[in-house]
Amino acid sequence: MPKISIVVPCYNEQESLPLFYTEAEAVLRETGCDYEFIFVDDGSSDETLAFLRKLATQDMHATYLSFSRNFGKEAAMYAGLCNADGDYVAVMDADLQDPPSLLPQMIALLQSGEYDSVATRRKTRKGEPPVRSWFARRFYRLINHISDTDMVDGARDFRLMRREMVDAIVSMSEYNRFSKGIFGWVGFRTYWLSFDNVERAAGQTKWSFWKLLKYAVDGIINFSQAPLSIASWGGMLMTLVSFLLLIFIIARRLLFGDPVAGWASTICVIIFIGGLQMFCLGIMGQYIAKTYMETKRRPHFIVAETNRENSPRIR
Ligand code: UDP
Ligand code: MG
Repeated sequence: MPKISIVVPCYNEQESLPLFYTEAEAVLRETGCDYEFIFVDDGSSDETLAFLRKLATQDMHATYLSFSRNFGKEAAMYAGLCNADGDYVAVMDADLQDPPSLLPQMIALLQSGEYDSVATRRKTRKGEPPVRSWFARRFYRLINHISDTDMVDGARDFRLMRREMVDAIVSMSEYNRFSKGIFGWVGFRTYWLSFDNVERAAGQTKWSFWKLLKYAVDGIINFSQAPLSIASWGGMLMTLVSFLLLIFIIARRLLFGDPVAGWASTICVIIFIGGLQMFCLGIMGQYIAKTYMETKRRPHFIVAETNRENSPRIR
């Protein structure tokens, strides 16, 4: 029987954690496999850590890492994956939006030996604000168009992976992490399991619209160089157009003299081009900023407290 590690990023999840633990624990015990929970407290300011401490004394399968501050879900997932020592590893949200009831089926699929990972996607985005769904769909259309990493619309971070795949993901130590892209980038044979969207069991979402938008831009910058190409091709096109215009103006000057007119349109053109230049500089700036952060090689997370032996505290 394989050992299963469940990584659970938790940020202010005091309401949903007990529900999650009860449900997931029951499902895992049923499977008969050996298992462990790795709860990653991402600098919560509520009673999450207190709950985890107590849980750890009651159930030896429940282990936790607690960050020194909020490092974000990506860092929490990375910390969990670095620590997980099961043969199969899953990442699950603490709010029961990733149904534990899918686990037995996922384990069976991996055991069949045909797949290296079983990923999940929601069929619908029922219960989500329509604006958010619309932008999410546009984002997936765009990113799949401009990046060669395949990203599935509606894909969740919930997936069960074989050891080999986890090692590959852990070896990608980039600072700017975008897991949906990383999962796709490493490859491996993946089975997609669809399920109906489940609404959060308790508590509140940690993602505001702006946080999500920023995350989407990060995803594009991390997995595509298309914005840079667009900027340089756009620049070339503008140069060509302005060259043609120049010829036109010189010809008109020679043929019809030089009446002073059209200064307003001139200003418009100058402002337009100035704006375009700033925009392209901004795109370049985004890439440079990412490079800057990568070169600093700062740790992804700092663990302040844990009940796991030999777990890396800073990485
Ligand atoms: N989360 C985290 N750190 C953060 C934000 C979120 O560890 O800074 C965790 C959160 O506790 C939950 C998961 O990431 O287990 C997904 O977050 P949430 O349910 O708020 O996102 P949504 O499902 O609304 O996209
Ligand atoms: Mg959620």
